[in-house]
Amino acid sequence: MKKHTGQDRSITQTWRPATQAVRGGTVRSHFGETSEAIYLTSGYAYDCAADAAARFAGEQVGMTYSRLQNPSVEMLEQRIALLEGAEAARCTASGMAAMTAVLLCQLSQGDHLVAGRAAFGSCRWLTDTLLPRFGIETTIVDGRDPDQWKAAIRPNTKVFFFETPANPTLDIVDLAAVCGIAREAGITTVVDNAFATPLLQKPLDYGADIVAYSATKMMDGQGRVLAGAVCGTQEFIEKTFLAFTRNTGPTLSAFNAWVVLKGLETLDLRIRRQSENALKVARFLEPRVPTLLYPGLASHPQHELAMRQMDAGGTILSLYLDGGRTQAHGLLDALQLVDISNNIGDSRSLMTHPASTTHAGLSAEVRESMGVTEGMLRLNVGLEHPDDVIEDFDRALKAVGL
Ligand SMILES: *Cc1c(COP(=O)(O)O)cnc(C)c1O
Repeated sequence: MKKHTGQDRSITQTWRPATQAVRGGTVRSHFGETSEAIYLTSGYAYDCAADAAARFAGEQVGMTYSRLQNPSVEMLEQRIALLEGAEAARCTASGMAAMTAVLLCQLSQGDHLVAGRAAFGSCRWLTDTLLPRFGIETTIVDGRDPDQWKAAIRPNTKVFFFETPANPTLDIVDLAAVCGIAREAGITTVVDNAFATPLLQKPLDYGADIVAYSATKMMDGQGRVLAGAVCGTQEFIEKTFLAFTRNTGPTLSAFNAWVVLKGLETLDLRIRRQSENALKVARFLEPRVPTLLYPGLASHPQHELAMRQMDAGGTILSLYLDGGRTQAHGLLDALQLVDISNNIGDSRSLMTHPASTTHAGLSAEVRESMGVTEGMLRLNVGLEHPDDVIEDFDRALKAVGL
């Protein structure tokens, strides 16, 4: 019955990730469609009133309302859980909906959270501004140093939260060391794995408890829709995460879920080719700019650790120029092919100046402390021929005197 193989974990778990990304979670209707259907429906009809009552009582399997369940969204959830090696996953309307929900669902007044200092700007807003408003204390540490994580633990510490590689400075957190420290102290680790994707790095294998995603980035991969995902144990997803999201409603639309399902079909191809392209571009840029950070280059201060945890360096690199904002903006303006855009994970090469865009909402002090300087630029290397990207940079660097 090939119709249902995508749903049979005893089969799908034996597949390699590239196969899981194409076929995992697929449910075919009686029409036998090859491409997954988009179930654009907000509600579901029952055969009889007793069935409706049984479903609400949790005594009958089935859907009740698309804030809670939707067939297209469920296919995506199963595919992501499979790729991650997690028991379960739930999708959300955006990456930030996933991050907000995964923290608020398990933290209460009086609890304490420790977070890595290098993080996506909105994640820093959650830890620095939102959580303290509700009486949840937060401590920010240099995520690269396991001793700082250990030293920050208090009796009421509930969660460790970090990205690796981190946005936009590409700090690497030692997953095995930090997750080990958390385990020992009974603390839950939440890893934002947007930069690596489950194809390059599986935090659960290193002892993480929960992995959260902006699926907007590499998973869609073509800059079309916003989406998020949270992966963990069945128990965490059902009892803790769903209890929060089913009532607060950060639900992913069926259409957007379908777009991400299509994106996942090419994730293995894209992430590997884009990582290769990023390495070529990084090698070209390294001698031309004062500082270039890319986890795949031996010059990255944590290169060895990065390559231990990751299959490849990923699509993002960071450049530091000496001429501050003027030179950074000058380089952006001189590029003809590479777009000025703050998105990442796209098949297009995109570059942004974090200090004046993604991290502009943070104070200059916080920016400096996490390495987001005025001369810093973040580049997402796409699927274009790398020589075209290199030639674009060669011309633009000359235009700003480099
Ligand atoms: C983009 C991003 C987010 C937020 O995701 P959205 O889908 O834009 O809401 C969170 N964490 C990281 C590391 C990101 O790159």
